[in-house]
Amino acid sequence: MAEHWKGAPVAQALTERLIVKANQLKVQGIVPTLAIVRVGERPEDLSYERGALKRCEKVGIRVKQFTLTKEASHGDLMEVIQQINVDREIHGCLLFRPLPAHMDEDAICAALDPAKDVDGITAGSLASVFTGSGAGYPPCTAQACMEILEHYGCDLTGKRAVVVGRSLVVGRPLAMLLLRKNATVTVCHTRTADLPAECRRAEVLIAAAGVANMIGRDHLTPGQLVLDVGINVDQDGNLVGDVDFTAADEIAGAVTPVPGGVGAVTTSVLAAHVLQAAEQIG
Ligand code: NDP
Repeated sequence: MAEHWKGAPVAQALTERLIVKANQLKVQGIVPTLAIVRVGERPEDLSYERGALKRCEKVGIRVKQFTLTKEASHGDLMEVIQQINVDREIHGCLLFRPLPAHMDEDAICAALDPAKDVDGITAGSLASVFTGSGAGYPPCTAQACMEILEHYGCDLTGKRAVVVGRSLVVGRPLAMLLLRKNATVTVCHTRTADLPAECRRAEVLIAAAGVANMIGRDHLTPGQLVLDVGINVDQDGNLVGDVDFTAADEIAGAVTPVPGGVGAVTTSVLAAHVLQAAEQIG
């Protein structure tokens, strides 16, 4: 049976360190503050928002919520972003995406002050993930995978890592973060010729495709470390990952569960980025 790498202990260890840091900032007269911007009421956004509020409260981060209806205009949202940019009390901004189709998402992301981009949505943040300059913040989910690997003592140097998925939110930035830790990285996608074979070669396999249970026995080899980023609803209405958990449990060396794996660490990473931004912006 594989080890179950749960997210909760990782989140807890991170949170304990963050509480100390938040208190130090407060002594300096800085109240770390996150703006959460949501357009509409998608259940997954509401669920993540509840998690973020809880985590911020635990750490000691103040949250200002900006909620727009899904009928709000592009201009309305742009005004909110500009308001956040000039508000000296706000250190970081979480914007739920995708935005409604009538809004120009690229323009909205580009308008956010990069110094407050704690979820890696601006081109500047992604560039810094690419160059490793340390100037911006990687997307929280990609960083959460790295926190899990570090917490459970995985030394990535020289390891073959395979990432399934090449989105700008998860797959691509994650590949860069893995590379920075000296893994040998392969990124797979829908045009990959033989996905099972690529996956089987991995020592560290990270699934971020958004397809329920697509990583099965054919993709797995004994001893692999398997991180499951996917959050999907199966035919029976259950929340499942991209990895067939039963198969991974039998074959792999370790696997993150869904729910309770990568997703449980993301809000702690968000909180960590807010504190970093508060330290820098002051
Ligand atoms: P996207 O839909 O933006 O990207 C999916 C990627 O997976 C694409 O690159 C796509 O390839 C690839 N892909 C899809 N199907 C296959 C397949 N059958 N074989 C190989 N590659 C495939 O999704 P996201 O990156 O935004 O999210 C991925 C998953 O992670 C989702 O389940 C999402 O819910 C979850 N997620 C979880 C978070 C968390 O905190 N745990 C946070 C964010 C996302 P191509 O480029 O060729 O189309």
